[in-house]
Order: sequence, then C-alpha cells, then structure tokens
Amino acid sequence: MLSFWEKESFVKYDYIIVGSGIVGLSTAATLIEKFPHKKILILERGIFPLGASTKNAGFACFGNPTELLWDIDYVGEEAMLELVNKRWQGLMALRTRLSDKKTGFKQTGSHEIILDIPDDFENKIKQLNKLLKKVFEKDVFAITKSHKIKEFGFNYSLAKMLVSNIFEGQLHTGMLITNLLAYLQKKGVKILNGCTVNQFKDFKSGVEVLVNNEISFQATKVAICTNAFINQFFSHLSVKPGRGQVLVTKPIKNLKIKGNFHFDEGFYYFRDVGKGQILFGGGRNLDFEGETTTEINTTEKIINNLKDKLSTLILPTHNFEIEQTWAGIMAYTPNRKPIVELCSSNIVLGVALNGMGVAIGTNIGEQTAQLII
Ligand SMILES: Cc1cc2nc3c(=O)[nH]c(=O)nc-3n(C[C@H](O)[C@H](O)[C@H](O)COP(=O)(O)OP(=O)(O)OC[C@H]3O[C@@H](n4cnc5c(N)ncnc54)[C@H](O)[C@@H]3O)c2cc1C
Repeated sequence: MLSFWEKESFVKYDYIIVGSGIVGLSTAATLIEKFPHKKILILERGIFPLGASTKNAGFACFGNPTELLWDIDYVGEEAMLELVNKRWQGLMALRTRLSDKKTGFKQTGSHEIILDIPDDFENKIKQLNKLLKKVFEKDVFAITKSHKIKEFGFNYSLAKMLVSNIFEGQLHTGMLITNLLAYLQKKGVKILNGCTVNQFKDFKSGVEVLVNNEISFQATKVAICTNAFINQFFSHLSVKPGRGQVLVTKPIKNLKIKGNFHFDEGFYYFRDVGKGQILFGGGRNLDFEGETTTEINTTEKIINNLKDKLSTLILPTHNFEIEQTWAGIMAYTPNRKPIVELCSSNIVLGVALNGMGVAIGTNIGEQTAQLII
C-alpha cells in the first residue's frame, strides 16, 4: 500500500518510457530537450540495460556492400536508401547530442572482406555508390589494392578482395550508454532499475503501468522501447528475436588490424578494442532457428565457429587466447524496418531495430517521441 507521499511524488509522470536501451534513452532525451519541465520516468528491468545496447560491438555502421546489395534485392532500392539515411542521420544526431569525447567515436573506416566475389561485383559497387551519393554526396565504397589483405595479416587464400568504406566509425558502447544516462539524469529524467513492467492499460485519460506485479505507475503518455522483448506484450507483431554472440581475445602482440571489418553479408564482424585485442561476433546464420531466441547466453556451436574463423581467416599467423564471450538480443522484422507506431491513443511503440541500433537508435527514439508529443 502506498503512502500519501509516495502517491504525491513517486508514481505520477507526464511520460513513462519502458526500456533503457539506446531507443528508450533517446526517446527520453528528445522529450526532455523539448519539454525541460515535464516529469519523465524510465523503467528498466535490469540493474543496467539488459538487451542489446550494452552488449553490442560498437560499430557506428550503416551497412556494408554485400548486405546493402542483398537489401536491394529483398526490399528494393528506395527502402534500402531510406534505412541507410535513417542510420546516418541517427549517428549524426547522436554525435551532436553527446560529443565524440563522450562516446569514444572515431571515424576509423571499415573494410568488407569478400570471400566469394559476386558476379559483376565492380559494377554493382559503382551502382551502389551512385545510389548512396543521395545521402553521402561522395563515393562510400572502394575496392582496395590486394596487398592490403596481406598487410592486415588475413589469410589471402580465403580473403579474395577488400572493399573499404570511409564513412564508418567505431565507438565505446559503455561510454555511450553511461554518458547518455548521465545526460538524462542531469536534465532531471528519473531512471529506475530492477523494474519489470508486467502490463499497462490505456484509460484514455492516461496510462497505468504495473511494475514488478506490485506498484502501479501513472503517466499521461507511455513509450514502449523493449526491442526484441516486445512479444511479451504484443505477440501479434512480426518481430523475431535474434541472438548475437561475441568474443574478445586477450591482447595480441604486433596486431595489425585496426578499424572495423565485416564479412558474409554482415553476418560476421570484428574490430580492434582495448589493449590490442580483437572483438569478433556473429555467426547467427549458422543456426537461424537456434538463434531466434531471447535467451541471453552463448553456445558452443557459435563460439567455436568464431574461434575457427579467427584462426583460419583473421589471425592465421598469430597465437591468441579468448578473454571473454557474451551474448545480446536483437530484433528483426520481415521488411527490415523498425516499428514506430501508436498502439493506442496514449501508448507508442519504438521497437525492432533490425540491428545497427548504434546508428539508427537515436533516429528511432526521436520518431517515437514525436508520436507522443
Ligand atoms: C552482440 C551484438 C552486437 C551488436 N553490434 C552492433 C554494432 O556494432 N553496431 C550497431 O549499430 N548495432 C549493434 N547491435 C545492435 C544494437 O545493439 C541494437 O540494435 C540496439 O542496441 C537496440 O536498442 P534498443 O534500445 O531498441 O533495445 P535494447 O538495447 O535491447 O533495450 C531494450 C531494453 O528494454 C528492457 N526491457 C525489456 N523488457 C522489459 C520490461 N518488461 N520491463 C522493463 N524493461 C524491459 C531490456 O532490459 C533492455 O534494456 C548489436 C547487438 C548485439 C546483440
């Protein structure tokens, strides 16, 4: 039973946001920037965010060539361009909001390693650059000289070609979320952790949000930003979870790999981190069925596959040891588009990022906020 004081001061808000991943935090940031005096509460079930936003690889990316070519075949040129544009705009907005010092952002560039060169590939890269000029005004991708493969130390009998991307960058995921949380707290947004939302009800005059099966909070408007965990509330949505597994090596002497790398249509990705270490993740395509899960654990199958690719393709001449492994959960829709929509007059959804949330997350937060302003 709540006290008079608790009822007065703790449970009533203008806006409640469920989920403190990058989308929930960006939604709150858009709202508080516009309405500095509104009462805003973020409810997060974890001690810190427990989905993808603190588990990701920190690639500030918008798609590599084979992935974007696949997108064109699957969703068409216009939809591909729209997504790339939103990712790029999101990244720019994030960099403006927090500054690169606070996210550790560096425009390192990236390379896609091509293992099997697709037919007419050079021509397709030219076409892709032509399309992307609408967003970047310059060529994004370039086929690099073949000696680069040796310079990075990759197995050149497997790596047939490298395609560079000058616009991609990397950041420090931990710094990004820590500083986004601090940014909001400084502006007076309240964040409560260990608060699982069990259900919510729109009474038209406002929304009631039940937390930990114990306390009902009230808000004029609510934003649900739980990404892959949205099916808990709306099982009819076509959102499928997709687990991502990652490993980090111990420091490696004379490591030549710097920047971001992708291969296999973006299903695998690696970068340098920490003290000359490699962060390597992916392999979901090895077991789509098994990886369509919200279980946040690693599996031997995927981690062994990552280790194998490290020793055969990426670090064929180095001895390495694994320092740690982890997993996080992404969310996918059939048309590759995030879902931003009202589900009743006072409740909005901002979910299903389809990966690349570091870049698109700020944009989706902004759109989510706009729907309940
Ligand atoms: C291993 C891995 C690597 C990745 N690498 C990259 C990368 O390099 N670059 C990139 O751009 N993207 C990457 N991504 C994707 C990116 O991290 C996501 O797209 C993005 O973080 C999604 O943000 P979000 O806020 O929508 O969801 P989330 O970060 O999942 O946040 C949702 C939050 O909702 C909370 N929640 C869920 N249910 C409830 C409830 N009932 N009550 C209260 N809280 C609840 C969860 O605990 C969670 O904190 C990666 C993802 C993974 C898993």
